[in-house]
Amino acid sequence: MRFFILFLFSIFIASHSYGKILKPSKGIIATSNSHASKAAHDIIKKGGNAIDAAVAIQLVLSLTEPQATGIGGGAFMLYWDAKSSKLFSIDGRETAPSKAREDLFLNKEGEKIKFYPDAVVGAKSVGVPGIIRLLEDTHKKFGKLAWKELFDYAIRLSEDGFPVSPALHNTLGYLSYLKTVEPAGSIYYRKNAEGQKIPIPIGSILKNQEYAETLKRIASLGAEEFYEGKTAQLIIESLKKSDENSLMSLDDLKNYEVIWREPLCQMYRSYNVCSMPPPSSGGLTMFMMLKILEEFDIKNLKPESKEMVHLYSEASRIAYADRSYYMADPDFINVPIDGLLDEKYIDERRLIINQNRAAKVITHGNPSGAGDFEKNIDISKPSTSHFVIVDAEGNSVSMTSTVEGPFGSHLMAGGFILNNELTDFSLIPEINGKKVANRVEGNKRPMSSMTPTIIFKDNQVYALTGSPGGTSIINYVAKSVIGLIDWGLNPDEVVQLPHYMNKGKYTELEKNTVLESLQYELESMGHKTKIMRKRSGLHIALKKNNGFIGGADPRREGLVISID
Ligand code: GLU
Repeated sequence: MRFFILFLFSIFIASHSYGKILKPSKGIIATSNSHASKAAHDIIKKGGNAIDAAVAIQLVLSLTEPQATGIGGGAFMLYWDAKSSKLFSIDGRETAPSKAREDLFLNKEGEKIKFYPDAVVGAKSVGVPGIIRLLEDTHKKFGKLAWKELFDYAIRLSEDGFPVSPALHNTLGYLSYLKTVEPAGSIYYRKNAEGQKIPIPIGSILKNQEYAETLKRIASLGAEEFYEGKTAQLIIESLKKSDENSLMSLDDLKNYEVIWREPLCQMYRSYNVCSMPPPSSGGLTMFMMLKILEEFDIKNLKPESKEMVHLYSEASRIAYADRSYYMADPDFINVPIDGLLDEKYIDERRLIINQNRAAKVITHGNPSGAGDFEKNIDISKPSTSHFVIVDAEGNSVSMTSTVEGPFGSHLMAGGFILNNELTDFSLIPEINGKKVANRVEGNKRPMSSMTPTIIFKDNQVYALTGSPGGTSIINYVAKSVIGLIDWGLNPDEVVQLPHYMNKGKYTELEKNTVLESLQYELESMGHKTKIMRKRSGLHIALKKNNGFIGGADPRREGLVISID
């Protein structure tokens, strides 16, 4: 049976598997995982729309990409509703338990605890998950097929099993603590002849009956089951087992709400680019970068040229300097969105850039409306998943979802991973008596970098983009916008561009790319450089000749499928 399924799957892959679709079709599905793309395709074939497909994708990703995302995590969705010609941005970010205090990650001496494993692994880092509520809320408003139907594919795949992918296997290999935490240590590792735990091999079939049971409950009882039923109990039990003083309560789960926020949109050249507002820093930081860069003749610069790397890295340094002081949950602090995007302020910040030399120091500016805060130092280990869907009616979803770091907190409940999103808060609440905007507080949402984006031309969807990648996400997405708009590249070309950026410490140049040859020249321009592996996962759709084409990042395991 197992081989038969594998055989059928390989036939499907042979006929559908593309890291790109170059021939325009009525719609596009691009996700980081072939099963997820196929689940979405099935839903569309059954008459479902982009929102129905998004539900099916996310349920499958929780199973096949547990290292990156899952229903125990959170997400941001941008949704364009074709019928009403309206854009929505939906915040399904995890929330700190009501009892959480700013010293959550401090020891008795008042010092911050070690990031991994101390802060990450265990109940401390787990925020109230938002994905299931986000999926149900959006489905209730816009979905076409019955909620229950959207679960079929993921339930079947959990029961029949799926072949472990290289990405899943490799993550298991480098996470030192996961094998010691149950039940993940038994689900994702096997004992070798010497009795040592080794990551489940690539291609071996992984089943998850417990997750199938969870899905069946949510399929028939809805999100209420997750937040108030057996699944809620399983979540609290898992947290208590890990730490009897864990803070999350059944009430925290019951009270979780998705927030429908005003999308953050800015004109870039003649395009209206829309993205996620705070608590994600994604849209705001990206727009600062784009507005700084808009005055330069980027169109005529080669993407891999020293000049482009220099300008882009300096713009990124400037925007990230402000990001670390002023961005956090807007329901707790006043995020000076208008001040940061004010034309005069941007002009002033742009003056920092010398076209021939990297600035020695770049500090935060003083936008109007900003509070007096200390610097947020954020650490985020890349995991996360991004997908895009355009259906034949033109409804479009750009969604980024996450459990934060690889395998989140390493804890599981009901067959899924529980996030470690609370480590996206500043571990240190204040420095010399001055508060950090992004400190832990009860019911607050940690600042994110996730940047799901939709670009419009003449009020029509022109492109969708987004990526995983920790704090680098914003740079990946901003450059994809420049690639699509300034350089006129197609999605497949955009996802292949080598990455460069500067988030405040050094200019990062992607390893094993042509950028390595620029290191010396950039250093002599005053850049501190570092050659690094970069793990973007851009999934992009672009309008072409009244249809859509798409691309999946070669650094991940994506599959693009066209909708005809
Ligand atoms: N938790 C991160 C955020 O919300 C994403 C982590 C990642 O992409 O790896 O920004």
